[in-house]
Amino acid sequence: MVILLRSNCLGRLIHTRKSLNTRRSFTTSSSFNPQQASEGELLVVVGGGAAGIYGAIRAKTLAPNLSVLVVEKAKPLSKVKVSGGGRCNVTNGHCVDKMVLADQYPRGNKELRGSFFNMHSPMDTMSWFSDHGVQLKTEEDGRVFPVSDSSSSIIDCLLNEAKRSGVSLQTGKVVTSASTNTSGKFRLKIEKRTIDFMEHVEADYLLIASGSNKQGYSLASQLGHSIIDPISSLFTFKVADRQLAELSGVTFPKVKAKLKLENVQRNIPQFTQPLYVNAGTLFVDFIPDLQVEDVKSIFVRHKDKFAKQKLANSFPPEFSLVKRFWNYVVDREGLEGDILWASISNNSLASISSTLKQCSFGVSGKGQFKDEFVTAGGVPLSEISLKTMESKIQPHLFFAGEVMNIDGVTGGFNFQNAWSGGYIAGSTVGKLASVPSLKEEAIGFM
Ligand SMILES: Cc1cc2nc3c(=O)[nH]c(=O)nc-3n(C[C@H](O)[C@H](O)[C@H](O)COP(=O)(O)OP(=O)(O)OC[C@H]3O[C@@H](n4cnc5c(N)ncnc54)[C@H](O)[C@@H]3O)c2cc1C
Repeated sequence: MVILLRSNCLGRLIHTRKSLNTRRSFTTSSSFNPQQASEGELLVVVGGGAAGIYGAIRAKTLAPNLSVLVVEKAKPLSKVKVSGGGRCNVTNGHCVDKMVLADQYPRGNKELRGSFFNMHSPMDTMSWFSDHGVQLKTEEDGRVFPVSDSSSSIIDCLLNEAKRSGVSLQTGKVVTSASTNTSGKFRLKIEKRTIDFMEHVEADYLLIASGSNKQGYSLASQLGHSIIDPISSLFTFKVADRQLAELSGVTFPKVKAKLKLENVQRNIPQFTQPLYVNAGTLFVDFIPDLQVEDVKSIFVRHKDKFAKQKLANSFPPEFSLVKRFWNYVVDREGLEGDILWASISNNSLASISSTLKQCSFGVSGKGQFKDEFVTAGGVPLSEISLKTMESKIQPHLFFAGEVMNIDGVTGGFNFQNAWSGGYIAGSTVGKLASVPSLKEEAIGFM
């Protein structure tokens, strides 16, 4: 039988017959025209997510002669697509001080106080996207979105820029193993997800930007790194309340939440261990800074002052609620939005107050995303130089994004970790590849 070998001209590509069967084939799934690399050096990026694509673009921009290959097992930037309710919360525009910014990372806050965000800050991310044609807006709470309110603006921008700069992207392929040879180059095994196919690639630089994927952790440990056990840091609950779907995108500056799971006796003050969510109840306090009596008094005062206003149109500003959520609460209380405040009984006001202070939601399990929102754990920061993103264990090996033991709170901080890490790693590789004489020296590019 014949195997069609279509080299993508990345110099050191070695195709291997895995087994002889009729399903075997080899096609390149690159959506770009791969660069004719011949003698040049090669950077392989594992993972076409935010960190991988951003890093690849940066490296290729600094070192146009470097061949840059991104291997992505599924679709590129798939988390960018679903993030922020499909709008992509690119970064956070309110944390200019790097200490305040670092505090948004439960894992990593100490290490991120150093030079990491100085080298590529949220403002630099915003400038990068606006310089590349994406208009951004900063919402009241600091979250930054594209003006289009569509994550495809970010995806299109990144993929167009990757293509324009000559980054090669191959999808549907998985980097399954990694080792180094005697000259310090990386030997990577790449397999196709769907077809019995395997190839070996020899790379000069390797950037692992595989997010929270198990295979990425495995590659890191094959190259000598330890792995901190991954745990879910941010995830969604499955709540059977159809009206909640209409509240998509609504955020609250501060809430307190308590989860009571069936068959779990003890309290879980902090989720320091993997949590298996089956059925239970989530209690949310939407006004955590006030006691329930104070909430009720504010409602009583509001009723006196706005007696002639409709319930749906007027509510106390002290609670910082948005109208969509207020109408949800009114509905949930079985009240008509058209009635006047004057006709609301004190019992109803007491009931609304306790709903806001202890709103219960029936939980039937974890959310629909197989991949968690954010995973903590991964490669320890003590094994990576955050000035260059280079491994302290293996020269020319780099990490960026969620594969490292960094997790941020919600608000765009997780993407910022990916952009900053990708940018720094890409800068280091770009510098090394464009100035060969510097290769063995410590470099300070900023
Ligand atoms: C539903 C959802 C909503 C989110 N919303 C926000 C938000 O609004 N703001 C925010 O800041 N963060 C948000 N996040 C978190 C954010 O998406 C991640 O922190 C960010 O995507 C991490 O980027 P990354 O490049 O490190 O990893 P990823 O985006 O996970 O990319 C890694 C890529 O590597 C690929 N890969 C892994 N292993 C291999 C391999 N061996 N070979 C080939 N390819 C491989 C994967 O398929 C994946 O595409 C959200 C996450 C989810 C799931």
